[in-house]
Amino acid sequence: MKNIPTSEELRARIREVFRLVPRPEYANIVEHSCPECDELREDLAQLGQYEVPNDVLDYHRNDLSLFSPEALRYFLPAYLIYSIEKPDSDLTEYVIFFLCSYRFATSEWKNRVRIFSESEKEMVCLYLHYLQSQTASRGYMTYLRKGEETWCRVKQGPGG
Ligand SMILES: [Zn+2]
Repeated sequence: MKNIPTSEELRARIREVFRLVPRPEYANIVEHSCPECDELREDLAQLGQYEVPNDVLDYHRNDLSLFSPEALRYFLPAYLIYSIEKPDSDLTEYVIFFLCSYRFATSEWKNRVRIFSESEKEMVCLYLHYLQSQTASRGYMTYLRKGEETWCRVKQGPGG
């Protein structure tokens, strides 16, 4: 495994790599209208990607799948940064389940990954590697490895 950055280094790199991601239009924060999606949109509409308070992230810890692809790309780094600060949090568990979901193999969910640049995907990949090195997330190793298939460059084996 590659060298694992410290918590501080990784948070700084994520912040830097995602800082130019365009803000999604108000109407495009979520793709659906229901009380749950509307609440997520209202809570985040006025906030920059790194201005979301931890209690708001925590409240919406299970809502990553409600974001449009553009809003996911914009707000995911805030979730990653919170999670790196608190690897034993409930939010971390939800972020792992989301990023490592089998649903990313479906055509509908592939769109959510395609919008990320290579360097942004590399940050998500590094996050998965970082968690594998943390005692708090040892129990999620199978998920974290599965997530690599979505977010990490596939290494070509000999003859592959
Ligand atoms: Zn909805």
